[in-house]
Amino acid sequence: MSTEIQSNLYIDPQAQAPAGYCERCGGELYAPSLICSRCQRREFLPLKELSRSYRAAAQPLRKRLSQLRFALEEAEDPEQIWHIKRRIAELTPMLTQMNELAELTEHYYDRGYWRNEKYTL
Ligand SMILES: [Zn+2]
Repeated sequence: MSTEIQSNLYIDPQAQAPAGYCERCGGELYAPSLICSRCQRREFLPLKELSRSYRAAAQPLRKRLSQLRFALEEAEDPEQIWHIKRRIAELTPMLTQMNELAELTEHYYDRGYWRNEKYTL
C-alpha cells in the first residue's frame, strides 16, 4: 500500500485538465500529445486508474480500522487501549485522504467538482 502517491498529485485549476500522470515522475500529461511535461516519457497513469488505486488503497485501511475498533471494545488493559486509540488516530486521516483523492480523481473532469479547496492552490 502506498501513501506516497498523493505527493504526485498536482492540480492547477487554471490549466487544462491533464489526461493523466506520469508513472515515473508524477508529471502531468495532456491530450493530444500525452507526453510527460517533465521527463518527456509516455508511460502514464490515466486518472481513472489513479482513482482505482486510491480505492484499492482505502480498502485494507477500512478493514484494519474496523478490526481496531472491535479490538478497542474488547480491550481492558489501559496500555493496550492507548495503543489501539493511537493507531486509529493515525489511520483515520489516511483513510479520509484516500477517499477524498479517489473522489477527486473520479470526478476530475466534472466541471466545478474537483475544486476541492484542500487540493487546489
Ligand atoms: Zn515524467
